[in-house]
Amino acid sequence: TRTPLIAGNWKMNLDHLQAIAFVQKLSWSLGDAKHDFSQVEVSVFPPFTDLRSVQTLISADKLELGFGSQDISEHDSGAYTGEVSGAFLSRLDVQYAIVGHSERRQLHGETDAIVGAKSAAAVRHGIVPVICVGETAEDLEEHGPSAVPVAQLREILSHLKASDEIVVAYEPVWAIGSGQAATAEQAEQVAAALRAVIAEVLGDDRAAATRILYGGSVKSDNIARFMREPNVDGALVGGASLAIDEFSRIVQFK
Ligand code: 13P
Repeated sequence: TRTPLIAGNWKMNLDHLQAIAFVQKLSWSLGDAKHDFSQVEVSVFPPFTDLRSVQTLISADKLELGFGSQDISEHDSGAYTGEVSGAFLSRLDVQYAIVGHSERRQLHGETDAIVGAKSAAAVRHGIVPVICVGETAEDLEEHGPSAVPVAQLREILSHLKASDEIVVAYEPVWAIGSGQAATAEQAEQVAAALRAVIAEVLGDDRAAATRILYGGSVKSDNIARFMREPNVDGALVGGASLAIDEFSRIVQFK
């Protein structure tokens, strides 16, 4: 049985001071709601410059909230201006690193080979990669919903071993920030296909253990539909993760 994961990708929002206030209020809100973190894991993904502040707050107040980075370098150290090493992130207790988000693929030219190398770098430093895959509207038209994400994941997984813990996020590019989420049936169909690829490349045990998230216009009024699907184990939430009440409702989707 897989513990569901609700992940909030803040993207380039909230500076470190805003992050401290936000995490404090979010933890109060979830505390008031008596949220059981052993039933549904919750993690936030702030910008790099917030991570030290978020780590300090979470460890000082012993919060059950988890956190991760939005990216990670494929390299460990050296002449890579602007990159952030997994070695530095793991020293900040970063548990997860998003890799291959569609915004990085589109705006920063990240290929599946790079995303695979970043996933391997995360694992090397004890960080669980949250591997993002998803098709554009054109891909959907040309190839249907699962062909492109399945091909992306197959290439990325070739950089990993069966013993490597991973999370996979299916984020159709057309659903991101558009207000037009995929249907639960579409998400389930692709999640099942992605799980089959994990089984093929990394074996049945890794496939059974891996959480597959849906992302793209997730809101409090559609989260429950996704969570009812057998192969959808959580959500990667963008815009709606920046509003405390709305994100709290998403976390308590039942
Ligand atoms: P939205 O929830 O704003 O559509 O963003 C989804 C996303 O890209 C999360 O990584």
